[in-house]
Amino acid sequence: DHEVVLYPHRKDEFGELAAAITRLSGDLERLKNERNEFLASVSHELRTPLTYLKGYTDILRREDLSKEDRRKYLTIIQEETIHLNGLIKNLFELAKIDQNEFAIKKEAVAFDDLISTVIARIEPAVDKKNIELTFSSSGELEAVVDPKRMQQVFLNILDNAIKYTPPAGRIGVSVTGSRNEIITAISDSGIGIDQADEPYVFERLYRAEKSRSRLQGGAGLGLTIAKEIVELHGGQISVQSTPGEGTVFTVSLERGDLYEECIAD
Ligand code: ADP
Repeated sequence: DHEVVLYPHRKDEFGELAAAITRLSGDLERLKNERNEFLASVSHELRTPLTYLKGYTDILRREDLSKEDRRKYLTIIQEETIHLNGLIKNLFELAKIDQNEFAIKKEAVAFDDLISTVIARIEPAVDKKNIELTFSSSGELEAVVDPKRMQQVFLNILDNAIKYTPPAGRIGVSVTGSRNEIITAISDSGIGIDQADEPYVFERLYRAEKSRSRLQGGAGLGLTIAKEIVELHGGQISVQSTPGEGTVFTVSLERGDLYEECIAD
């Protein structure tokens, strides 16, 4: 007290320090809550497929099952196993991103080739749903990116476009380049995203209309990972949607950064 009276400026400093500590403890509390919520969601996401696995293996023990039913239940078990596997893989990737152990290995790539590789991978699923897919590009663009990781980004977005677009719908991929950036827009004529859900689709384990998306096999991690990868490249990802009409995801990669990387290499 004595000191405070003698050196009033110290009182200010002390006040600032106290305020900073209060802020920090607030941040810590928020982080703790977020972590707890995340763990609760993860547990739930892991438990759901396991419940199916247990339920259907129990049924399969019965001897009076027809061949047809047996096959049906085995298919469900297989799908749930694939879902669980994908979920664990995504969780592991996010953990690596959080720990800064997610290496981005950039190299110069032909951007059109990168997109074509992804399109080739999704073609069977596109054909199966009788979806019309178009790809347009403004020219041969070179980008300095981690090709595997960027493929993962576009695969996640396109997987969703297929999942949330009814049969015989349309998906379009367009790549445009300017001096400053490469912009990839992926549009679909699908169910769209409600205005209220739009700001949250990149958040961990977020699914619009939970039950519906779960039936589609998603756990709400694909877009989170896509966003993290794009941001690790110094780029941006955004979404614009009209419910009932369709959705457009846009990925912009700064070319300035890319060129600097080129020069640095
Ligand atoms: P999921 O694995 O559930 O698809 P994502 O993180 O990839 O998780 O997507 C989050 C949510 O955003 C999805 O559950 C879905 O509700 C919504 N979504 C993503 N892409 C689309 C799209 N193209 N059309 C409609 N809804 C979409």
